[in-house]
Amino acid sequence: MRLKLAAGNWKMNGTGGDLHVLTELAQRHTHPACELLICPPATLLHRAAQAVEGAEIAVGGQDCHPQGNGAYTGDISAQMLIDAGASAVILGHSERRQYHAEADETVCAKALAAQAAGLTVIVCVGESLAQREAAETLQVIAGQIAGSVPDLASGNALVIAYEPIWAIGTGLVPDTGQIAEVHDFMRTRLQDRFGAEIGGQIRLLYGGSVKATNAEEIFAVPNVDGALVGGASLTAADFSPIVRAL
Ligand code: 13P
Repeated sequence: MRLKLAAGNWKMNGTGGDLHVLTELAQRHTHPACELLICPPATLLHRAAQAVEGAEIAVGGQDCHPQGNGAYTGDISAQMLIDAGASAVILGHSERRQYHAEADETVCAKALAAQAAGLTVIVCVGESLAQREAAETLQVIAGQIAGSVPDLASGNALVIAYEPIWAIGTGLVPDTGQIAEVHDFMRTRLQDRFGAEIGGQIRLLYGGSVKATNAEEIFAVPNVDGALVGGASLTAADFSPIVRAL
């Protein structure tokens, strides 16, 4: 049985005044039926980890560097995320692939470093609108999984988030048939590569305009093991109903 995961990606949002969202979530979800993870900006990680101490909420980073340390101005290593209190990291988000030119090989190197440090890795994949319209979605997803997911020993420490780029922050959501098609495809690829057991343990999240109003329908899709939520993770009022729908 895969434990469902509700993950919030705060992106470049949030300062100290927003930490109350975490304490509110902790109060609302004392015994959550799923795993709860919030990935705030790096500047908030340490305080976020302190804010959820003793609660059933984990915190994670939004990126890390493949190296452990060195002359990489502005970068943060996997060990540093752990030191700040993180237990997970989002890697290869389409915004990093787009604005920081991250290729699959870079994402894979980061994932290896994060795994070695002991972080749960959430690798993001997803097609653009042009790729979907050209009927290239499955080919794109296959390439991203092959290129950015490292070989691994345990399926529990790896999560894949399917985030169609055209659904991120747009209010557009694929229909349940389209989500099912991609998630089934990802499951098959992962089981072909890692074997039925490990491939069956890897959690597959859907991300892109998930909200309280569509969460239940999306979570009913086979092989959807949770969500990676952007905008609707920024307040407890918006995120809580999504957590409850899992
Ligand atoms: P939205 O939920 O704001 O569409 O963002 C999704 C996302 O990119 C999460 O990583």
